[in-house]
Amino acid sequence: MTIDYARHDAIAAATDWNAQRSANGQKPVTNRQIDQIFGRDSFNQRVMRQRLPKDVYQRLMLTIEQGKELDDEIAGVVATAMKDWAVENGATHYTHWFQPLTGQTAEKHDSLIVPDGRGGIVFELSRNALVQGEPDASSFPSGGLRATFEARGYTAWDPTSPAFLMRSDNSVTLCIPTVFVSWTGEALDKKTPLLRSMDAISEQAMRILRIFGNDGGIDRINTTVGPEQEFFLVDRNLYYSRPDLVTCDRTLFGAKPPKGQQLDDHYFGSIPPRVLAFMTEVEQELYRIGVPLKTRHNEVAPGQYEIAPLFETSNVAVDHQMILMEALHRIAPRYGLHAILHEKPFSGVNGSGKHNNWSLSTNTGVNLLDPKDETYTNMQFLVFLCAVIRAVHLHGDLLRASIASAGNDHRLGANEAPPAIISIFLGDMLTDMVEEIERTMARKKIKKTTLDLGATTLPNIPRDSGDRNRTSPFAFTGNKFEFRAPGASATAAWPNTVINTIVAESLDFLATELEKAVGKKPTQSKLETSVQSLLKKVIAEHKRIIFNGDNYSDEWLEEAARRGLPNLKDSVEALPLLRSKKAINLFKRYEVLTKAELESRVNIFQEKYAIQLQIEAEQMVLIARQQILPACLEHQQRMADAVRSTETVGVDCTNLRVALEDYAAQLDKFSNTLEQLNGAADINDFTDPGKHAKYMRDKIVPLMNDLRELGDELETRTASDVWPLPTYRELLFIK
Ligand code: ADP
Ligand code: MG
Repeated sequence: MTIDYARHDAIAAATDWNAQRSANGQKPVTNRQIDQIFGRDSFNQRVMRQRLPKDVYQRLMLTIEQGKELDDEIAGVVATAMKDWAVENGATHYTHWFQPLTGQTAEKHDSLIVPDGRGGIVFELSRNALVQGEPDASSFPSGGLRATFEARGYTAWDPTSPAFLMRSDNSVTLCIPTVFVSWTGEALDKKTPLLRSMDAISEQAMRILRIFGNDGGIDRINTTVGPEQEFFLVDRNLYYSRPDLVTCDRTLFGAKPPKGQQLDDHYFGSIPPRVLAFMTEVEQELYRIGVPLKTRHNEVAPGQYEIAPLFETSNVAVDHQMILMEALHRIAPRYGLHAILHEKPFSGVNGSGKHNNWSLSTNTGVNLLDPKDETYTNMQFLVFLCAVIRAVHLHGDLLRASIASAGNDHRLGANEAPPAIISIFLGDMLTDMVEEIERTMARKKIKKTTLDLGATTLPNIPRDSGDRNRTSPFAFTGNKFEFRAPGASATAAWPNTVINTIVAESLDFLATELEKAVGKKPTQSKLETSVQSLLKKVIAEHKRIIFNGDNYSDEWLEEAARRGLPNLKDSVEALPLLRSKKAINLFKRYEVLTKAELESRVNIFQEKYAIQLQIEAEQMVLIARQQILPACLEHQQRMADAVRSTETVGVDCTNLRVALEDYAAQLDKFSNTLEQLNGAADINDFTDPGKHAKYMRDKIVPLMNDLRELGDELETRTASDVWPLPTYRELLFIK
């Protein structure tokens, strides 16, 4: 399927790009053409400036850039302009686009067409249709938030994320990003808490800037996110022959191929032509929507790739990330491929993550985690840095819980992804400096010259410090933090909500302490000594979270235990921590989530964990019964026939007979384990999602592991012409 852009663009002004594309199909796109298509399908600020009356535009910008409440009067004008733009670009329908707690996106399409009463039609998008929608909320998970008898929720326009056009081969739909809330105002989605957490951190970060007198002309602090997406591509025909991939997005059986990733020859190697063609098309589609993709390369495992956008403000970045994941799925079939976003599609092969690069930036574009070379701003930088250190130390458990899922359990701690122990990597230089502060800063009088934090001055910090540590879950990488633990299939909204909230709390703490210390009339020197003594305390208390060594090593496990850092091995252990008093108070205090909202999320995460495993177990039983067992019986029969006929003619084949006995014994074990798993999976009448999750981990997962091991062993002993599933070699190496 190829999208007929030319047709879609017939209404829009023709450009070289379109003309060329429709004439020649898939011609390479030049930079000039990219410039022309970039953001064309996005109702972004450029378009809004062109199409909105000046005062409406300015009032809308107050909401978008400074988080000011939306001016109700202007919504009707925006609706009309947005509709005109969409219709001119071929749109016939619009949808409120939102992110329910399923972790996916949801849409309900309505026509822009309205009968004009005289036998014709007009296109219309009313103020109300833009601002508010009412999808049938009853079938979205609410985790108990919303009793079914009042199954009402509504979507509300989020003007801070640009509307965009979604194209299929024969339709164009205007997508309006919205939040999804219940009539009582409870958040039923992933977006609302994210937006709230951004408000919370902005408010606290502004206090720090004010203390330093650096708040002039700054209205808001935004969090920025650049998520790197890892994924696998497999041939689509092979994909359809694997029921496990089709239902679970991961293989439940599959023996390791002789050549895996031992040679490391795939990482950053040249991108295979079919894959490159696919990625190029993904880029072109996303450029149109205004998603600024930046890097693409092969990842560590064979068949694994990465695509990363340039960072944007968190809420836009999260929306764009959802669009990116959707585009990977949607476009891959055009190249005979299937995109797998599961965290661990192949056993024994590296899994996929979503590295979440995170920073803080003023609305004027100054990165607050960028160590500038003036001491004064350096001090401010250090306050922000220490706020993050403190936050991660105090709430590492919540960070861990924010990325817990059945899929991610396969990755964390498996020496390919950061361990389940949350720690911070600072790099040697910054760690030295932090230690230096702890040692020397208490000196009462610090002369201007030594104020450069002793011997180690910040200007020496290379922005992109070479000493990267790829084993750390939370690494400072020069001017941002990289949270490396999120799973590939997860939405970035939730972990970012947690990061924003815990850092907001630390900034609140630091700001309160500093405000107290410097008093009403702060002088430069008072400020300096106050900052120094506060940071000294904070570092002494929280530096235990800093670890620059190898996070994969066993020594770290022991060391972390000595330091008292939690090691929450799996989702069943991690998720309940979101119900702790500490968590409830934190989210409540910063008005990110009420207790009920938080509780509902934990319920949903636990349910999702259990249901995902339930589906996997049932699918596994089916594959074992319907495919593997019959194939192995056929193989066994062949062996038996061969032994019998060989012995009948008087030829000795003792070893073959032993091999047959072995094989039969293995298959018998397989059959036995299969029935055990089947029996265990039948028990699923749990009312408490936590208990259900625990049952799945304790009873089902071990049986699944056993069955898999037996099955994979059988695969290596069974004739390839009877083996019913495409092998790892085929899945991973056919590009
Ligand atoms: P690596 O794989 O070495 O970590 P990449 O270049 O692949 O580096 O990814 C870096 C990611 O970090 C990009 O998505 C980039 O947009 C993002 N990034 C850079 N600066 C910031 C920032 N200030 N805030 C958030 N993300 C950022
Ligand atoms: Mg990275």
